[in-house]
Amino acid sequence: MVFAPSNLPQSSIDLCMLEKKNWIQRHLERRTTLTVIDHLALGKLPLLGEELSLQIVDDSYSAVTLEGQKLWVQLSHRINKSNRQAHLEKLVTQFYQQQAQDWFSERLTYWQAKLDVRFSTLQVKQWRRKWGSCDSKGVVSLNWRLLLAPAWVADYVVVHELAHLRYMNHSANFWQLVALTYPQYKLAEAYLREHQHQLFLTNVAQDQ
Ligand SMILES: [Zn+2]
Repeated sequence: MVFAPSNLPQSSIDLCMLEKKNWIQRHLERRTTLTVIDHLALGKLPLLGEELSLQIVDDSYSAVTLEGQKLWVQLSHRINKSNRQAHLEKLVTQFYQQQAQDWFSERLTYWQAKLDVRFSTLQVKQWRRKWGSCDSKGVVSLNWRLLLAPAWVADYVVVHELAHLRYMNHSANFWQLVALTYPQYKLAEAYLREHQHQLFLTNVAQDQ
């Protein structure tokens, strides 16, 4: 979409587009190479670097059970067809949120000892473009979608947020502490930048 002042002649707009041709092309190409992955539709769910295969069965009630690398989802036959997909996504999301609660609790406990800090509460969040946050009261919030990334990437965000309990900013001291505690942090940051658009369960990312 091109925005231009209403009194600008078409020829000037065309000229401008021509001049910016390479830039436009480059960005359009970049967009199409950003392949989103519909994990739910593929039936393959990444979990901290492992891959679970999704097994859906019709049943009299809805439930989710993890059995080895298989994630069994029983879908109640009472749910009508038009809601099935949304219901499936809700059930799998709840599974991930529970896993996130358990895994992040364990990792926070592990890393807080190394950093000599103490968190007070863990909040599992669902954000579109944010991975974590931490406040001065020790409340650490983490995005459950980090579990779609490898464990070493999710671990970095845990370290990052806990390091804020020592430095409530992104000062040189803060980054020094992060680097000391988690030397591969730059790789983890790069991973999140490059894969952020793939860390959704479906390609219709409807969360806030
Ligand atoms: Zn930060």
